[in-house]
Amino acid sequence: MNHTPTRIATDAEGPVIQIRDLHKAYGQLEVIKGVSLTAPRGHVISLIGSSGSGKSTLLRCCNLLEDSQQGDILFEGEPVKWRGQGVARVPADRAQVTRLRTNLSMVFQQFNLWSHMTVLQNVMEAPVQVLKRDPAKVEARARELLAKVGIGDKADNWPAQLSGGQQQRAAIARALCMEPKALLLDEPTSALDPELQKEVVRVIKDLAAEHRTMLLVTHDMRLAADVSDHVVFLHQGRIEEEGPPAQLFHAPRSERLRQFLSATM
Ligand code: ADP
Ligand code: MG
Repeated sequence: MNHTPTRIATDAEGPVIQIRDLHKAYGQLEVIKGVSLTAPRGHVISLIGSSGSGKSTLLRCCNLLEDSQQGDILFEGEPVKWRGQGVARVPADRAQVTRLRTNLSMVFQQFNLWSHMTVLQNVMEAPVQVLKRDPAKVEARARELLAKVGIGDKADNWPAQLSGGQQQRAAIARALCMEPKALLLDEPTSALDPELQKEVVRVIKDLAAEHRTMLLVTHDMRLAADVSDHVVFLHQGRIEEEGPPAQLFHAPRSERLRQFLSATM
């Protein structure tokens, strides 16, 4: 008998991150002007747009590194609880903030490795100190992740002894060692020479192929086209156009997006 099972939506299937009508200003400067975004589990969402369009700010609002004044942020369906309104709005629940931060690991343009710790110590630090995980297990996992990003032999080196591409791969291993539900990557290849960008692009492609949930800010349109399920073009704090990469890159509708692409591709 043909039998269609009823699908029950559970947290494990729903979006990891949802943003609804988010607004953020720095003083008088409105930077995010009503942005809504969904990162379904296992999908890669790329954010593109000119410098100053609000990409980094949006990413930082997602994991509450920045406050926002209006709109909702949901992590695995659970809305962030706020206290106060408008400019006085702040997250109300510290435990929730920690849960969100540790589950949405961030990778920055400038790697930000701790220079006084070895590569291995960098990767182990937060899982051991913040999440209180068993150091022996964390070390095994950290070594596995360093091997995975191709720098297993650099575990005992200082960050300064690594190339930029190796440092960025160490930073990605560090983010992964938190076992996050999503990675937020802010221009992970922008600080690197083209030759070194390739190593990092390779790692990001591997992660996409594993269906890691990622929000990726990038200037690399090739990378965005290759790994994204969905691309969002931000212009002056608003979504000007969004859709599958084939549409955005090959059949853009907005004149602004056309201009942006002709200037960058
Ligand atoms: P993008 O990452 O797309 O280049 P950003 O999110 O960094 O853009 O910046 C968006 C706007 O917000 C810019 O006008 C920028 O100058 C401004 N901005 C960013 N960070 C701050 C800050 N800490 N204080 C004041 N203005 C900021
Ligand atoms: Mg930026």
